[in-house]
Amino acid sequence: MASSTVMKAVDQFFPYLAPHLQIMNSTTAQNTLYGAVDWSQTSWLERKWAAYYVWIANPLIATGLLSFVWHEIIYFGRAFPFWVMDQIPYFNQWKIQETKLPSHAEYMHCLKTVLAIHFLIELPLIFAFHPICEYFGMATYEIPFSPVWKMAAQIAFFFVFEDTFHYWAHRWLHTPFMYKRVHKMHHKYQVPFGLAAEYAHPIETLILSQGTISGPFVYCLFAPKHSLHILTVYVWIALRLAQAIDAHSGFDFPWSLRQFMPFWAGADYHDSHHAVFKGNYATSFRWWDQMMGTDRWYKAQRASEAEKKLKAQQSKSQ
Ligand SMILES: [Zn+2]
Ligand SMILES: [Zn+2]
Repeated sequence: MASSTVMKAVDQFFPYLAPHLQIMNSTTAQNTLYGAVDWSQTSWLERKWAAYYVWIANPLIATGLLSFVWHEIIYFGRAFPFWVMDQIPYFNQWKIQETKLPSHAEYMHCLKTVLAIHFLIELPLIFAFHPICEYFGMATYEIPFSPVWKMAAQIAFFFVFEDTFHYWAHRWLHTPFMYKRVHKMHHKYQVPFGLAAEYAHPIETLILSQGTISGPFVYCLFAPKHSLHILTVYVWIALRLAQAIDAHSGFDFPWSLRQFMPFWAGADYHDSHHAVFKGNYATSFRWWDQMMGTDRWYKAQRASEAEKKLKAQQSKSQ
């Protein structure tokens, strides 16, 4: 009853959209989406994937729902352990700005704002994802998935694309005009924490998210149809979210990725951006800031901290 009322409203106000929201019956969905599939050649996960699309019986809604739920699970699932660590004094030894911990009120304000952005801005937009994927020739409900080597190569390209996009877009957001009107909100937290990764003005969310989602579409423009599967994009989005939350966590561990990959940015890098409000504009890698000389404030900050530490040690030992 409720759903038929919704459908009538959609039909009236968005006549173009209405046919795309029609739910098939399960036999039609099975035949339409997977009529030509040889099931003996499929994996367990591929069969579950197909079963999900048949169950929802509308690819647009199925992709939209899956994308939103995936984003929420990864975002809060990755931010939660850092919130726990912030409550346990033992972990303070790995905190970059160890004298300043986020308060409960800061956490709650951030949580409410991030949820509002997710539900009011990202949720409506995410339902446009499926038609756009189809337009660019990305495989969505289709099976099989891509082999692991292909997924890894595609994700490596998305990382480099996003990092480059983000570096220049972020530098632009630091121009006086854009900073005052848009980017200032993200810099509310001088001592960042994981949950604050997506704490930003809605316009900033729209601009910077292009770096994450445009990479796959640019790839589709130059690759044969269906050579990129949406599952690969989900893995990429999970890694990108994990990277953003790690970078804002305020924790630099001896086992952090940047200790093994010197070109990886990590929390050490982005924390400095929040502390000094400039430089270190890239997300994943250090090379853009190095090449453009925009890591000079970070280098100066770390050098002065090292000098202070050394002086403190010397005066202790005297
Ligand atoms: Zn910034
Ligand atoms: Zn940030």
